[in-house]
Amino acid sequence: MESPRCRKDPCGFICLILTYLGVVYADYVVVQHVLIPVYSDSFWFSIHGAVFNLILVMLLACHLKAVFSEDHGMVPLPVAAIDFSDLRSQSSRKNDRGSSEGWRLCNRCETYTPPRAHHCRVCQRCIRRMDHHCPWINNCVGELNQKYFIQFLFYTGLASLYCIALLVSTWVWRFRGERGGGGGGGEESETTSNKHFIIGHYIILLVVCVLFGVFVTVIFYDQMVSIISDETPIEQLRSRLTKDKGASRPRPHKPTLALLREVFGRGSVLLWLLPLRSNPPMAEGVIYSALPDYDV
Ligand SMILES: [Zn+2]
Ligand SMILES: [Zn+2]
Repeated sequence: MESPRCRKDPCGFICLILTYLGVVYADYVVVQHVLIPVYSDSFWFSIHGAVFNLILVMLLACHLKAVFSEDHGMVPLPVAAIDFSDLRSQSSRKNDRGSSEGWRLCNRCETYTPPRAHHCRVCQRCIRRMDHHCPWINNCVGELNQKYFIQFLFYTGLASLYCIALLVSTWVWRFRGERGGGGGGGEESETTSNKHFIIGHYIILLVVCVLFGVFVTVIFYDQMVSIISDETPIEQLRSRLTKDKGASRPRPHKPTLALLREVFGRGSVLLWLLPLRSNPPMAEGVIYSALPDYDV
């Protein structure tokens, strides 16, 4: 079991708390100020309540899996210290891509890293197929938790959209009911201050949902582009920098479905929506171990 060093990041810790507070707040406003006053006499109360809470449960499950993944792609450290003194001097003369098989030496981890692994300064470890370090999951998005991260984005976007639809429709319905002089779900008994209090909740949740909805949609799009192009943002940057030197990573052509299955698993497409562990993708047939077959 790897030590969770990244969880000591204060920014990540604050983002985790904000995420859970946001979910609890959204559930409170939707149930207390939307569903109960407006739909309590209708079967839509059960439908909306069940669907919205199911989306939130899925969101939290995916988030927890992304945060506490037992292995999100961390390159294991060697059990015994390795003497790199000779190799360092050799590797400094070589180019950045190190060995012929794509394995490289990470001076910070003092270990060999497989192809497509990158060192994360926050986690202080090399992460296989590292996409980026995300404070919202207080963890790196790597080879084995990218699926959960994308699912978290998906359910956050879905919950935001659902919230916006419920808030807007309820607001319009209440407003129309008030102007029509009835059918507003008991507004007559509401005091002015209570109305302001409820409207305040509506506005806050609406703004939060729009901001987070747009935010996760943009990241979701970037993630999908990164998967389909078979290149992480770090690799995109690196290939841009090394373009002139002709040293960019060779990318064999793979069908889009095969690239998606490397992240989401080889099971049914419906399972892609569930935060279940998929088959570990064996990218390009590489079997990861602490130490490759090096001529040391
Ligand atoms: Zn490293
Ligand atoms: Zn990290």
